Amino acid sequence: MDKIGESTLFIDLSALEHNYRYLKSKIAPETKFLAVVKAFAYGSDMVSIAKKMESLEADYLAVAYAKEGVLLRNAGIKIPILVLHPQPINFGEIIDNNLEPSLYSPKILREFLAEAKQRQLANFPVHIKFNTGLNRLGFWESDVAFIHQQLQGRNESKVISIFSHLAASEDKNEKEFSQTQISTFEKISKEIDQKLGYSPFRHMLNTSGIINYPQAQFEMVRSGIGLYGYGNDAKVDAQLKPVATLKTVISQIHKIEPHESVGYNRAYKSEGYRITATLPLGHADGIGRQYGSGKTYVSINGKKALIIGNVCMDMIMIDITGIDCKEGDEVLIFGEESSAEDFAGSANTISYEILTAISSRVKRVVTS
Ligand SMILES: *Cc1c(COP(=O)(O)O)cnc(C)c1O
Repeated sequence: MDKIGESTLFIDLSALEHNYRYLKSKIAPETKFLAVVKAFAYGSDMVSIAKKMESLEADYLAVAYAKEGVLLRNAGIKIPILVLHPQPINFGEIIDNNLEPSLYSPKILREFLAEAKQRQLANFPVHIKFNTGLNRLGFWESDVAFIHQQLQGRNESKVISIFSHLAASEDKNEKEFSQTQISTFEKISKEIDQKLGYSPFRHMLNTSGIINYPQAQFEMVRSGIGLYGYGNDAKVDAQLKPVATLKTVISQIHKIEPHESVGYNRAYKSEGYRITATLPLGHADGIGRQYGSGKTYVSINGKKALIIGNVCMDMIMIDITGIDCKEGDEVLIFGEESSAEDFAGSANTISYEILTAISSRVKRVVTS
């Protein structure tokens, strides 16, 4: 690879394809696959990820907000896009861009139907979200009659799927709770079919759900983190390939005398002679302050170097004492040989957070 020269987030589409095939191997061939590309495809590059998923014949994409879906349509993505968390103010652009809303509350359902009526839509596809225990978004089982009453005798929109979301799909200690969510969803699905007189397709599993509850795959699964190379489980991680690799370069090297300090608020104080390197990457790039103060490693030529002192807006300082390197050399923050899960774990957070944090200021390079 050429010298990178500056902070760069590499996005490996062949890793994405590998992960997709792995996840597909865990479900029945006829089960549909929805690729979650919200939050700039977990901080990577939404359009290139979406295009790749479309070329791999994924059945659906999902975004959180309407504007993310509009961005995909403007980039020429044609496959169905589920908007997980729309607001009434977004209904116009959802309809104009052929996006498919999740309807998750009585207010949202009523207001969407009103908009659909005003625009004289016919059979516009909508997805009904049920809350089976996460207590975040969704109708309750007891709302089925209300939903039916709202939809009865009108054809502006059609429920093409119903779905729910597991609260703890990665947590083996919560198996019983997850099973209860699954059986509640099955019950809801029966009632919906009976009341509506047709059977919307069903989906409940995220990445860890696919791994741990494949019996509940229904007609579709929704995967995000797994596609990007992380599975909330070391055994699964070993089968997946990280899509995103963040690298930077050494801007400057300093020799630090005993009892000198490094960085703002003199947060690091040296005990002996140290060598430090300053990197062009800070909290404005997504490396939050929680990664400072000697908790987290980056690597240079396979050697680990601690982030020391306070993370600055545009820089971090690392301790490179004993590491053979020079200004301009490459530094691996996370990726292929050094997982984002470990990086995140050092600051008590999860891969999802560090991946989605990498700001738009960091250059993206997509490789295939
Ligand atoms: C983000 C999201 C997912 C993807 O979850 P992963 O754990 O990343 O696979 C699936 N379903 C819903 C409703 C989500 O919000």
